[in-house]
Amino acid sequence: AGPFTLPPLTYPFNALEPHIDARTMEIHHDRHHQAFITNLNNLAKTNPQLGTAQITDVLGNINALNDDIKFAVRNNLGGHAHHTMFWEIMGPGGGGKPQGDLLAAIDKDLGGLEKFQNDFNAAGGRQFGSGWVFVTVAKDGKLAIETRPNQDNPIMDGKRALMGNDVWEHAYYLNYQNRRADYLKAWWNTVNWNKVAERYAAARTGTLGV
Ligand code: MN
Repeated sequence: AGPFTLPPLTYPFNALEPHIDARTMEIHHDRHHQAFITNLNNLAKTNPQLGTAQITDVLGNINALNDDIKFAVRNNLGGHAHHTMFWEIMGPGGGGKPQGDLLAAIDKDLGGLEKFQNDFNAAGGRQFGSGWVFVTVAKDGKLAIETRPNQDNPIMDGKRALMGNDVWEHAYYLNYQNRRADYLKAWWNTVNWNKVAERYAAARTGTLGV
């Protein structure tokens, strides 16, 4: 028990098949994400302010933390934030195309949907070792494709993660083994563009959570 809780998946483990298999989803959510929650609750026992502060405030001011907890918070709170976002932007019946303001921003900043998806896949493929590939939103609203190692969050550099794909091997290895490129390509079929559009609107009004 503690101030941090694992957000429940809002769809079944097998809802993203065949693109992400049920076993991978179960292990990823119930074990990997849960491990971040367990670690954060342990950290909060001796650092209770962690449990009450806004996640974005803590990660956005990571260097304000004492050295004895900085590394653990960076990894575990970053991991909690990223995975919360990840479950949210996927769902059954995903894929297709974004619309409206989001599509207009993709056209303007990322060269259109096809180029964006190809560039995003290439960036995810180039990330050496563990990490994430994101679309970030800068303070001026501009979108960019960026990678981060491990669980580093773009808010550490003053940007927000609009959407992202997990390229740690645990995200795909059971089904895709070393074929990360195939996973990156298939992942688009899981994306819930309505949720990404909601996040984009929230990012632009400064109300995006994690
Ligand atoms: Mn993961």
